Amino acid sequence: MAGAREGAFRELISPFLRAKIEEAAQRFGDASPQHGALTRQYVKSSQEDFLQTSERGRHYQSEVHISFEDQPVIGVERLYKRTILIEPTTVCAAHCRWCLRGQYPIQTMKPEQIKHAARYIGADFQRDEISEVLITGGDPLMSLNLLRCTLDALQSHAPNVRTVRIGSRVPFQDPERVSGAMLELFSGYRHFRFELGCNVNHPIEFWPESITAIRRLQDIGFRIYNQHPLLKGVNDDFDTLVELYSLLRDHDIEAHYLFHAIPLRGMRHHRTSLERGLELAARISACGAFSGRAKPRYAVLSDIGKIVLYQGTVVDRREVDNAVLLRSGFKLDERRRWNPSWPIPDSVVLDNDGTMMTWYLDGTDQDENLEYPASLRARG
Ligand code: SF4
Repeated sequence: MAGAREGAFRELISPFLRAKIEEAAQRFGDASPQHGALTRQYVKSSQEDFLQTSERGRHYQSEVHISFEDQPVIGVERLYKRTILIEPTTVCAAHCRWCLRGQYPIQTMKPEQIKHAARYIGADFQRDEISEVLITGGDPLMSLNLLRCTLDALQSHAPNVRTVRIGSRVPFQDPERVSGAMLELFSGYRHFRFELGCNVNHPIEFWPESITAIRRLQDIGFRIYNQHPLLKGVNDDFDTLVELYSLLRDHDIEAHYLFHAIPLRGMRHHRTSLERGLELAARISACGAFSGRAKPRYAVLSDIGKIVLYQGTVVDRREVDNAVLLRSGFKLDERRRWNPSWPIPDSVVLDNDGTMMTWYLDGTDQDENLEYPASLRARG
């Protein structure tokens, strides 16, 4: 969730990013790929008004709609066996135009709800299965109080949780927030192994301040990984991806997923075809231009969870709405066991062995006004 009301994802650009956008304009020019890589990520575009009926404001449904201790569990999602999500705050330092969370309604958890969620995560009936929590939102590094509350609650009520992953773009949007106070806070929880997914999309984002923030987190034991979308006009070319993955390797950041951009309402201009992503993924996997240790998996964030694309994953294509049927490895009975309230999306087709396939809306490779005019630059 990114601080948006349903259907109105307001433009929010941190002062740090505004300065970097200005710097890119002066250094490379308004029409440069470097400047475009930032404006296309953060500046609201009139193309967001072009809606496609098959796009949705909310991409998938994984919240736990469960009563525990006679109260509804709030702010928790679960799709997989060993990992559960908790979303303490909706606030972000900046709004990424393509974000999955952007069009979710505002929600911020109260301390009592966080403790209740932690007791649910550590409950007897599932504590042997769950070992990993992803704290996401919004951006969990935006509120140290909520972060402390969440970590305290997990430490007290869910001793089964050993790995805490944090989804945050703060190192690349507002790196000064990675402060001494934040590092001290994390250093107080020796029981957890901390990881941070940083979501960096383009080589230009490796600013010295961001590199320092990443290094400071690494120095207190964080493992940093990157998962990011393939974005039209930002990183949908071979050379940009090679440079991006080389930099990730240089800074000891694991390349995790390269996602096909999701079919969100008004975000068609960010989306390539699935095929274009496959071509790029095949090229970067096969090339010798950077270390094999920095090669990502190309995946789709579908209605039923992440599906990594291999030969045979695309089972069918429906021309009428440009959708593809994807084969997953998810069994419906397992999903229902991990999250009994999980509703089967309309897009699901069950295979004979109970494995789910899902229809997924493809993108296109047509150029849809890739150039952002200078007037759309971040306004100061
Ligand atoms: S990607 Fe992260 S920082 Fe960007 S809008 Fe989404 S939740 Fe916020």
